Amino acid sequence: MKSDNVRVHIRIRPISKKEIDEGAQECLIAAGPQIDCRGSQFTYDKVFGYSVEQTEIYNQTVEPMLASLLDGFNQTVFAYGQTGSGKTYTMGGEFGKRDREHDGILPRVAEDLFERIASMADKYKSSLQVSYFELYKEEIRDLLKPETSSKLLQVRELPNGDTIVAELSRTEVNSASELLEKLKEGNTQRSVGSTNMNATSSRSHAAFNIHLEQQSHEDPDDSKSAVLRLVDLAGSERLKRTGAEGQRKEEGVNINMGLLALGNVISALSDGDSHVKYRDSKLTRILKDSLGGNSHTLMIACVSPVDTNHDETIQTLRYADRAR
Ligand code: ADP
Ligand code: MG
Repeated sequence: MKSDNVRVHIRIRPISKKEIDEGAQECLIAAGPQIDCRGSQFTYDKVFGYSVEQTEIYNQTVEPMLASLLDGFNQTVFAYGQTGSGKTYTMGGEFGKRDREHDGILPRVAEDLFERIASMADKYKSSLQVSYFELYKEEIRDLLKPETSSKLLQVRELPNGDTIVAELSRTEVNSASELLEKLKEGNTQRSVGSTNMNATSSRSHAAFNIHLEQQSHEDPDDSKSAVLRLVDLAGSERLKRTGAEGQRKEEGVNINMGLLALGNVISALSDGDSHVKYRDSKLTRILKDSLGGNSHTLMIACVSPVDTNHDETIQTLRYADRAR
């Protein structure tokens, strides 16, 4: 039986001005939860067409996860897709560059969470901490502690089988704007590499984590903690497309291994399979504690609408299809 704890959504971005100028043609048709790419059809939990705006995306994806977070269940959201497909735009990783209506998930989560906490303040004392790390070429960096960025973090397994990123720093935040300051701060520390697909494409996975602790004023036994992870995955494009050599190529191999292992893990969780191969990559080892069990996982697979990206789009649609 398919697990309700795993969801896969597709988001199609609008055609860009550059693509129109180059004469690219759209090759995707969305109808309800179905998508047709030149005759190949796939069905997902939800498909968002190019005209669906950021508010609606938030309301239909992560907003419904917050109640469960406040109940103490871990939530993980992934943005998957080729470079330029809209992952960062969707996640809101680079908020503040355009008008507020363009704000992605992160700034909306920040405001929503602080409002919810305030409305529950008579019952619970809540605190929010954030951590932010990237996984780049199988190395983990703390993006909120740049002075230690040369010191790479290790994944450690605890006696109970949980895994943690040892020594990853956490910072308490007391407002949405403080939270977003941390996001901005971390972004300036990210590793970027250029490929011929997108000069500023990030070749690393970046996980922004919001740790919530709640303690009841009346009942000392009533305390809850959970983490919401928002993961902007590295571009899923295959190597030949990006003309990668040397360093770039090595990155590509690591990225593909991580994404492959992640797809396998999500697919196993979705199928209710008891044998989940977390150990196959660092990405899945790190995220083990928030995948599976009572955790909720959402993958938003982002795709380009145009025929010039057809091969990568089909790859993403298949990956997302398998994950579900
Ligand atoms: P990725 O992170 O997958 O490489 P980006 O999020 O940077 O891709 O998106 C590539 C470009 O397309 C950016 O300029 C972004 O602002 C724009 N874009 C992506 N999705 C949308 C959308 N749904 N609506 C408007 N612009 C978008
Ligand atoms: Mg990006």
